[in-house]
Amino acid sequence: MIDDLIINICVLITFIFFWHQLFRTNRLTFHSPFWIKLIDGLLAGVLGIILMRYSIYVNDITILDLRHVPIAIVAYYGGLIPPIVGAIIITIGRYMIDINFSSHVALFMMLIIAVGTGFIALYVKAVPWKKWLLLLVYAQAIFSIALYIVAPVYSEVISAAILHIVCTLTGGMLAFYFVRYVRRNSELFLKYREYSRLDPLTGLYNVRTFYYYYDKFLRRAREELAPMVLVMLDIDHFKEVNDTYGHMAGDEVLKQLADIMTEEAGPHAKVSRNGGEEFSILYSGQTIKQVEKFSERIRKRVEHTIFTLPHGNKVRITVSIGIANYKSAMEQDHILYNEADQALYRAKDIGRNHIEIEA
Ligand code: GH3
Ligand code: MG
Ligand code: MG
Repeated sequence: MIDDLIINICVLITFIFFWHQLFRTNRLTFHSPFWIKLIDGLLAGVLGIILMRYSIYVNDITILDLRHVPIAIVAYYGGLIPPIVGAIIITIGRYMIDINFSSHVALFMMLIIAVGTGFIALYVKAVPWKKWLLLLVYAQAIFSIALYIVAPVYSEVISAAILHIVCTLTGGMLAFYFVRYVRRNSELFLKYREYSRLDPLTGLYNVRTFYYYYDKFLRRAREELAPMVLVMLDIDHFKEVNDTYGHMAGDEVLKQLADIMTEEAGPHAKVSRNGGEEFSILYSGQTIKQVEKFSERIRKRVEHTIFTLPHGNKVRITVSIGIANYKSAMEQDHILYNEADQALYRAKDIGRNHIEIEA
């Protein structure tokens, strides 16, 4: 009998692992879209059915297993909808094993567990493990009552009932630890991956991501002949802003400039902060004429924007811009970068607040 319940725990943990792998970037939460709640509910139901496959038969018609644990898990993370969906699936599965008094009781048992765990998850405020324990105890209590109702002579099944309680609590706690562990790992992984791609001050791409797209767009230009354009942008006399108002004020200007660039760069533009007060925008599939229009919008808007600093000071800045496009398949990787850079220097030489094109 204990073997069956150990198998139940193993099935639970294994299933949870693959389940999580499948939904790493779409983890179930109270705010998940309906379809995610539906799918997670369905999967909880499937897991419940698999767990029933390894049930212990208490007597001819009554089976015990951990089918209520996945219901409690999806309630914990997803609220009311997923456990109800899961309970319906499990009930259908239960009726496919056999149709008798026990399976009718199981129908009500699963629905009461689903609705109850859903409400507990939504409305009880407690630290995670206490809340989880409450969900488990509740689900187990309903299951135990159901067993009491269907067992003709309860004293004959009492050892199975106690074993069931012990296994639900140990298996349930293990499963919860495991779910939290894999979810936390994924959350951290995705968060750090995002951090490694972005510039922390402005939220634009950082130079690492810039090179990633630079290489990607070069490949596209060579293999698919998609036009590629690079825009380099540098703030004029930015040192004066820092010297006059301080570094914090300078940072604020960088942030506001980043917002302007993001808004005006056009669709699919890859806007990066390459370092200091130097920015770039990469385009794939846009002609240099279109890019020039976007760049001119940025230049003009910066020129006419009054940047508000943390202490209420106001400052105006201008930017110089260099633009170059990818010209021939024979061109070496760094040529485009150099040309845009040279165009930017020319824009500075001309007197700043200018756009220069290396076409
Ligand atoms: P130019 O028109 O020739 O580009 O003049 P500039 O003053 O903008 O150029 P320069 O390269 O001489 O100075 C760049 C300044 O940018 C130096 C530094 O004070 C400032 N800077 C670079 N990175 C940051 C940053 O992260 N935050 C702030 N606040 N300032 C920065
Ligand atoms: Mg500058
Ligand atoms: Mg500079």
